[in-house]
Amino acid sequence: MDLRDSEDEAAFRTELRAWLQSNLPDTLRDHRGGSSRFEDAELRRWSRTLAEAGYAGLTWPADYGGGGRAPIFQAIFFEETARAGAPQHVGVIGLGMAGPTIITHGTAEQKARYLAPILSAEEIWCQGFSEPGAGSDLAGVRTRAVLDGDRFVVDGQKVWSSFAHVADHCILLARSDPESSRHDGLTYVIVDMHSPGVEVRPLTQITGEAEFNEIFFERVEVPAANVLGEIGGGWQVAMTTLLHERGTLGFALQAQLEASVRRLLELARDREATPLQRDAVAHAWMEVQALRLTNYRALAHLEVTGIPGPEGSISKLVWSEANQRLTKLALELLGAEAPLAGDDAPYAGWWQHQQLRSRGNTIEAGTSEILRNIVAERVLGLPRSR
Ligand SMILES: Cc1cc2nc3c(=O)[nH]c(=O)nc-3n(C[C@H](O)[C@H](O)[C@H](O)COP(=O)(O)OP(=O)(O)OC[C@H]3O[C@@H](n4cnc5c(N)ncnc54)[C@H](O)[C@@H]3O)c2cc1C
Repeated sequence: MDLRDSEDEAAFRTELRAWLQSNLPDTLRDHRGGSSRFEDAELRRWSRTLAEAGYAGLTWPADYGGGGRAPIFQAIFFEETARAGAPQHVGVIGLGMAGPTIITHGTAEQKARYLAPILSAEEIWCQGFSEPGAGSDLAGVRTRAVLDGDRFVVDGQKVWSSFAHVADHCILLARSDPESSRHDGLTYVIVDMHSPGVEVRPLTQITGEAEFNEIFFERVEVPAANVLGEIGGGWQVAMTTLLHERGTLGFALQAQLEASVRRLLELARDREATPLQRDAVAHAWMEVQALRLTNYRALAHLEVTGIPGPEGSISKLVWSEANQRLTKLALELLGAEAPLAGDDAPYAGWWQHQQLRSRGNTIEAGTSEILRNIVAERVLGLPRSR
């Protein structure tokens, strides 16, 4: 593939760069994100501004309010926003996972009801897949959804559900056939998080923030019209969600990593890094460039097939481990100031926060071990581990 921008892509990049320069409020530049982002009216406004300018859902079909663009434009968007220090749209799960799943499997009514408020950030989504006994082994899901006339009654517990404390809707994977096991008998439903019987309990992370949650469902009624795909066909729908989660994240993650390496470079100059530390910074830079090329390879697959391929797992794996190394190196450079936290720390504690948050990177969206298995079996074609 040609790695240079085409004429169209270059025009899009220039226009976006100029747009960011005149529209990105200084107060939002280099925003840390975190759990308070949903309560931050300015960030919600920024998400709406992105949508109004046509920069939310760039690859979604124009019929559903998207940009109808090829995936490379989304990649350029991530590169330019990271370069400008602009925060992403707050609807991470809606835009990247729920929306594409609804576009692929949803009915006309579901598309009309749910897609537009994702783009405008009026409605926030969470993902209810993991359970205390089903994480890497997602087919172990035990939350029940029992069909009773024209509704399902949901009982059970989900865990580690990011943003559930502010979410309006949940994409939920549940067992609708109590006699079934593993991949069969699962159904994928959209649950209104404001329904009676839904209880959300935030879990505090090592950063001190509470971005993810336990969700308890007690006799929660969900209209049968909220099923995505077929009753009993939930596994296939869940795979669409996971492929989008890993597949479309790649460029966003690489762009963030590149922005972090630039900051690291500044820090290394500021702190007069040792030759060994300078070598590590150079290594981090090379890693970002290798990741960029790998992402282009995944993009070439996406452009041909329209579906993200297993290559997305490579990006997620390399990025998450590189991010942990990079933030650790930053703390080393901060030396005696590394244990400080909050506004008293250099750079208002940005590096400390990044290092603590990076610990979860190798667990969320597939642990490193699971991703290595996927890369071994589905990308390299090695024999199955079991
Ligand atoms: C920050 C964060 C946000 C998250 N957000 C969400 C969310 O929004 N929605 C949601 O549903 N979930 C979410 N999760 C949960 C996440 O998907 C799970 O934590 C992850 O899939 C691992 O599952 P587990 O925690 O049950 O660990 P387990 O699956 O129990 O794994 C425990 C250990 O065993 C290893 N292991 C397991 N199976 C194998 C195998 N076959 N081969 C080799 N090693 C193996 C794992 O790599 C891990 O080291 C989030 C997690 C984090 C950290």
